Amino acid sequence: MAAFLDFQGITSTVADLQAAFPETFVHAFAAKANLFQSLLTLLRSQGMGAEVASAGEFELAWRAGFEPSMMVYDAPVKTKAEIELALSRGIALNIDNFQELDWVASRLAHRSSNSIIGIRINPQVGAGEIEALSTASRSSKFGVALKDQGNRERLIQAYVDHAWLTGIHTHVGSQGCPLELMCAGIAETVALAEELNTALGHQQIRMIDMGGGLPVNFDSDEMTPSFAQYAALLRERVPALFSGRYKVMTEFGRSVVAKHGMTIGRVEFTKVSGGRHIALTHAGAHTLVRTVLDPEHWSRRISGLDSQGRPKQAEMVPQDIAGPCCFQGDVIAHLRPLPLLEPGDYVLVHDTGAYCFSTPFQYNGLPNPDIYAFTVSDRNEVTFDLIKAAQSDDEVVAAYS
Ligand SMILES: *Cc1c(COP(=O)(O)O)cnc(C)c1O
Repeated sequence: MAAFLDFQGITSTVADLQAAFPETFVHAFAAKANLFQSLLTLLRSQGMGAEVASAGEFELAWRAGFEPSMMVYDAPVKTKAEIELALSRGIALNIDNFQELDWVASRLAHRSSNSIIGIRINPQVGAGEIEALSTASRSSKFGVALKDQGNRERLIQAYVDHAWLTGIHTHVGSQGCPLELMCAGIAETVALAEELNTALGHQQIRMIDMGGGLPVNFDSDEMTPSFAQYAALLRERVPALFSGRYKVMTEFGRSVVAKHGMTIGRVEFTKVSGGRHIALTHAGAHTLVRTVLDPEHWSRRISGLDSQGRPKQAEMVPQDIAGPCCFQGDVIAHLRPLPLLEPGDYVLVHDTGAYCFSTPFQYNGLPNPDIYAFTVSDRNEVTFDLIKAAQSDDEVVAAYS
């Protein structure tokens, strides 16, 4: 089994993103969507920034060469060491809650920092279609709940008390959140920033971080909704973002990379069980954890290929595509109509560039796969670059000993 990233596709999507918004916007890639160093380096070279949420993500992005002014630290749960790290490197820091705010304030009484520091707001505009990815529901674990009694006043007081609070942040959610909902959450947050600046009598809030979350279409090759559509709606709903008065940061993850990744597994064996055709491959739960645990929301298109990698020519038959993990749920597609697969064929799982092979679920001690970046020349020649070799048996052993 191996996974592939289309670096040209990613480059052109980044260009679409940059063209959709004014040049002054900083687009910080949400590193958790796909953490591989070569990808981060590519994105940095295209002018993107990085949004990180752990010391490990920070270190990967730092080594990929992002400038501090292009980075933001957003972890919902930060250790004191992580807060220190962000403050000392001067990257933007978004505070999640009032206790964290008190801690940062106590640190800043003793040290200075170049970080732009903001507070993450939960505008409580409601959940999208997928509860697990909706961060702006009434009792979400993220940010300060704007509509809870007393919080608006408490937030205003915090900005009055701390002149170093010069940012504000929201991230309404991801897959399953309609654009209208995302715009509504950002509008609430920007309205608060404007209210604060007016109350303070000067523009204390200089940076608005509007989060990421543009959903991805997993049903076809089309990129919908597009960055241009989202930007057009934002211009209409939240014109202050485009006024030039704020440094605006975005944090798109999945929409930058999901459609430019794929996973290919060889069919090792096939069987018929209770009348059902089953193809057994290594493209399973280990790299497609959401797909197997929540197939209703994370189903992926699958193509059947022959042993030469060409589209398989055979009778269409509903088949289960089963993975290698020792639990029954490790099935990435149920009764999917596909050309009848045989040992030596391949299954190609589409749109796996985000939150799939880059966020493996290590089960049964299965190794993380080879990851290749590829490019296609004008003459249709494909070049592969192994950006991360599969774990060896020794590496798997080392991970647990
Ligand atoms: C996960 C996350 C993102 C990216 O979300 P996508 O749906 O991948 O665009 C952005 N900001 C924050 C704070 C996040 O947690």
